[in-house]
Amino acid sequence: MSDKVASQLADYKNNSKNDSAVTTAHGTPIGEKDAVLTVGPRGPILLQDNAFVEEMAHFDRERIPERVVHAKGAGAFGYFEVTHDITKYTAAKVFSNIGKKTPIAIRFSTVAGEAGSADTVRDPRGFAMKFYTEDGIWDLVGNNTPIFFIRDPILFPHFIHSQKRNPQTHVKDANMFWDFVTLRPETTHQILFVFSDRGIPDGHRHMNGYGSHTFKLVNAEGKTVYCKFHHKTDQGIRNLDVKKADELSGTNPDYGIKDLYNAIATGNYPSWTTYIQVMTMEQAAASKFNPFDLTKIWPQGDYPLIPVGKFVLNRNPENYFADVEQIAFSPAHMIPGIEPSPDKMLLGRLFSYGDTHRHRLGTNYLQLPVNCPFKVRNYQRDGPQAVSNQGGAPNYHPNSFNGPDADSRAKALSPPFAVSGEATRYDSGEEDNYSQPRIFYQKTLDQGARERLISNIVGHLKDAADFIQERAIKNFSQVDATLGQKLAEGLKTHRRANL
Ligand code: NDP
Repeated sequence: MSDKVASQLADYKNNSKNDSAVTTAHGTPIGEKDAVLTVGPRGPILLQDNAFVEEMAHFDRERIPERVVHAKGAGAFGYFEVTHDITKYTAAKVFSNIGKKTPIAIRFSTVAGEAGSADTVRDPRGFAMKFYTEDGIWDLVGNNTPIFFIRDPILFPHFIHSQKRNPQTHVKDANMFWDFVTLRPETTHQILFVFSDRGIPDGHRHMNGYGSHTFKLVNAEGKTVYCKFHHKTDQGIRNLDVKKADELSGTNPDYGIKDLYNAIATGNYPSWTTYIQVMTMEQAAASKFNPFDLTKIWPQGDYPLIPVGKFVLNRNPENYFADVEQIAFSPAHMIPGIEPSPDKMLLGRLFSYGDTHRHRLGTNYLQLPVNCPFKVRNYQRDGPQAVSNQGGAPNYHPNSFNGPDADSRAKALSPPFAVSGEATRYDSGEEDNYSQPRIFYQKTLDQGARERLISNIVGHLKDAADFIQERAIKNFSQVDATLGQKLAEGLKTHRRANL
């Protein structure tokens, strides 16, 4: 594959003309670009040098807050195409007929590292998709894992703090990491996943994506089912071994970004096949496990994968900041025909993503072209950078002057749903944390994969205090006694003093 990352500037030069003068931000030509305005050749500088003042002031403001999670990422554009009819489950227009194509954007990311961190670390990968549909934006904001570490969103900031830097040393801290995950054993399933081979995918093209949460689909008759989304890579699963990944972290930390850019720039377009799993309302009510628990998968034997479509990435970003840094996904961006389920993690994320974008990008973040290229008609007005402020249209509702009204189809596709139960805080920490991890360890992984998993856990857990290691061994023993025993043996050689 030719290195289009390395030749980007030369390619730009070959495909562009240099036929206009440099300007200030207000568009006036600048007569001298490479010198400030001074009194005599040795200075001082005059404040009236607006070209300088303006450029420095803008430079000082170049950075926006980095994403708290998923700071390092790669983006691309393409299309989603329907290959199978699922209109009996959903009336979402994106799925309305076989052959239908919808433009998409995607962002792949690591989770815990900063914007400059290495792409080849052990971490889940974000797998966030934006569908530019006729009914507005649909964001399916998932990961490369079908599950997550926790099932209650109130734990999210604490989980993330434990994965990031120690507040005093500013160094990643194995005690923080393993202390949290062993005190909350619902993390076990995802921990096994992340410490298995798939914890370090070979770039972004060779991994599956999952919507991860449980969603609700609504069909044209208003009938609902629950659903999960799966995207299987057409490139085949490929992972990096630990030694190679460590080496790349030092020598080629942008490995994932480069691989995706070069593949697309040379016409080697990556694609994925999308499936859904469907659970009826009756099946959900009778299910032995909680189908809205993000630490659990739906067994494919009981809820088979139903093919839906495929997506292809065929366009690189034109400008990383505008297209990838400013792209803002939110699980709350749903379209008629797709609704939230009672999945607590999903419901928590419905709030937090929009909130973080308002902080990071501002109140009008949805007016940025990459986030919403459509003409929006509503009653939201003003605020910073209101570039699409809807002219003279009425700014209150109801009104008698052609302001937009409610949509009956959207209403029909959001049927009432029943809720019941006593309102209180239910700590779900003890809800069956081991049966699916046991299947994963004993059946999904083969012998070689189990050995690598143990070696990967030992390699990280060895840096935690003894009492935390012991708690981890106790938890993992509940998945499988041999797993616990082998971890204990592996850790024995790395004993440290108790904290
Ligand atoms: P199935 O055997 O029907 O499905 C297993 C799934 O595991 C397949 O989708 C396969 O995906 C995936 N898989 C295979 N090898 C690995 C691996 N080394 N690491 C991670 N995933 C792998 O069984 P169940 O549906 O009953 O699930 C059993 C266990 O498999 C679960 O407890 C879960 O841990 C894991 N799993 C389940 C998924 C689900 O949605 N049901 C999805 C992914 C994993 P592929 O086609 O890519 O090989």
